[in-house]
Amino acid sequence: MAEIPLFEEGVMDQDARLIGSKCPDCNQYAFPAQSYCPRCSHEMERTALSQEGELYTYTIIRQGPPWWKDKVPYTVGRVKLPEGVIVKTQIKNDELSPLQIGTKMQVEPHVMINEQGEKVKIYRFCPVG
Ligand SMILES: [Zn+2]
Repeated sequence: MAEIPLFEEGVMDQDARLIGSKCPDCNQYAFPAQSYCPRCSHEMERTALSQEGELYTYTIIRQGPPWWKDKVPYTVGRVKLPEGVIVKTQIKNDELSPLQIGTKMQVEPHVMINEQGEKVKIYRFCPVG
């Protein structure tokens, strides 16, 4: 079976780790990966990020444009990783349950259908346990 391509190339590795960047000079991390450090402008290096973090904030999207109406409702939010980066992400929450800020979350690959009807792989976070 053909490998399902990533929606955003280079954003996740084979082990389902998000790829960000780290500054070798001041240890600042960034996600998505950046070429230059937002703190000191030094050149950054690509690095795999922690797979677990904490729910920082979220919201449930209940309405969308006509071409997206079969996708709603869904949950989006931000997850803070131990490296200090805050990742914008979809959140697995099929029951649309209220979530507790600070809940431990884990990244996972998730297959969705893009606007051309093709399968693509995105990352999303799901509550641990
Ligand atoms: Zn730096």
